[in-house]
Amino acid sequence: MTPTKELKSTAFVLGAGAGGIGCVYSLVRNGINTVVADINPDFGGTMVFGGVDGWEPGVSLDGLHKILADELCKMPNGGHVTEVVPNCNLFSPDNGWNWDNHSFSKYPWGLCMPTGRTYEETLGRCTSIRGENGTMKRFQFDGRLMPKAVHNVLAPYEKHLTTLFGYAFSDCEVKDGRLVSVTVSNKSESVKIYADYFVDCSGDIVLARAAGCEYAFGCEGKEAYNEPCARDASDNVNAVSYVFRVTPKEQRGVDEIPCEYEISDIEKWKSERMKKTVTFMCKYPNGDLSLNMLPTMEGKEYFALGERADLIGKARVYAYWQYLQAEKGLDIYRLSEIYSAGIRESYRLVGRYVLTETDVRAGKPQGIQNARVAAIADHALDVHGEGGMCRELEFPYEIPLECCMAKEYGNLFVACRGASFSHIASASTRLSRTMMSLGESVGKHICGMHNS
Ligand SMILES: Cc1cc2nc3c(=O)[nH]c(=O)nc-3n(C[C@H](O)[C@H](O)[C@H](O)COP(=O)(O)OP(=O)(O)OC[C@H]3O[C@@H](n4cnc5c(N)ncnc54)[C@H](O)[C@@H]3O)c2cc1C
Repeated sequence: MTPTKELKSTAFVLGAGAGGIGCVYSLVRNGINTVVADINPDFGGTMVFGGVDGWEPGVSLDGLHKILADELCKMPNGGHVTEVVPNCNLFSPDNGWNWDNHSFSKYPWGLCMPTGRTYEETLGRCTSIRGENGTMKRFQFDGRLMPKAVHNVLAPYEKHLTTLFGYAFSDCEVKDGRLVSVTVSNKSESVKIYADYFVDCSGDIVLARAAGCEYAFGCEGKEAYNEPCARDASDNVNAVSYVFRVTPKEQRGVDEIPCEYEISDIEKWKSERMKKTVTFMCKYPNGDLSLNMLPTMEGKEYFALGERADLIGKARVYAYWQYLQAEKGLDIYRLSEIYSAGIRESYRLVGRYVLTETDVRAGKPQGIQNARVAAIADHALDVHGEGGMCRELEFPYEIPLECCMAKEYGNLFVACRGASFSHIASASTRLSRTMMSLGESVGKHICGMHNS
């Protein structure tokens, strides 16, 4: 048994990814004493440790994302705006600047390159904002610099913040319909945090589930919310991708696969799936490329594999990368990093309001109201893997604060991809800037409750 230390705070935030960063920022800048804990060694979550260090085009409330983008752009090679180039065939100029010519079987990727656009132009994806023929502009940053950018932004408020990095959630205590404490642990100690307000930003909503809140996993059937695209209920979730990074090298040649990843399980995938995989590539400011293979494995496969998922996922990355190098001319790069599993979807709160496909597709043609709205978004309904689809939206939509509120407790909030969304709605809501906004809005709401 590790010794237990006790802390008292006004707010406790579990998870320091996009949602957690937004929440911590809005709490501490309003003078609320806050403890944040994360199993990772620093701020960032999926944006840093999952290698998802780019923000897809998307409408967003003003807020922390702009401050972080500014902060990153001040750093050498920190961030830039990219656009999918019409000819994404980087290495064979025989294609001309013509997207229609692009042969995905010959060059199985789409590529985003810097094109001198402004950050403001990344703030919209739906057709009513971007226009029918407008291109997708995204913000690509170097994830290795994001923790520093976050620390810079939080520095003026540090007296209100305690960070517990490298600590995993282990327990929570509930009394009289309120959450009372959360315990987090590392190898040498446990810390029990008593707080007035708790925010679960853990992605997989480990705190809300441990506290006994209602949650969902997988696809809801049509009977649940009568969503237009709903099929039969199942345990399918959006697919998992292992994002990886490659760096230019002097000498052409195919990288070796570390022996632990030369496993027999991979052969079936190589023969059936590998050559059908298409990759989303983005150029980093320093010239490296980010590769997001779509996808590495089905979501339900990832969860069924349990501890073996990482070995198999990374073995697929190595096999796929060798194929791109050997057969598609990418041997002028070397693989420099494979990130942690990129999980698009897992457990979701069933909170005071469940956002559905119907809400997302109805949008707000008359404009966004911003009253008691936790975030706005306009990303496509984008499901990868089995049952996949990518349905663009015409108008932006609002995410009500009630999607972040647990029905069971007045002092527990969820501000991450596991907030109260249906499976289909979550295929649009999950973007990093949207999660950051949810976090900021929950933080503001807590300030209001605390000060009233
Ligand atoms: C492959 C892929 C590509 C994507 N592409 C884009 C894109 O291009 N643009 C975009 O905007 N979005 C994209 N997304 C979506 C986006 O990256 C994520 O949905 C978003 O960043 C999630 O933020 P979050 O705060 O909800 O969760 P996370 O970032 O996952 O943060 C959760 C945090 O909680 C911590 N945690 C979890 N469990 C525990 C525990 N038991 N104890 C302690 N800490 C814990 C984790 O360590 C983590 O730091 C993509 C996602 C994936 C997977």
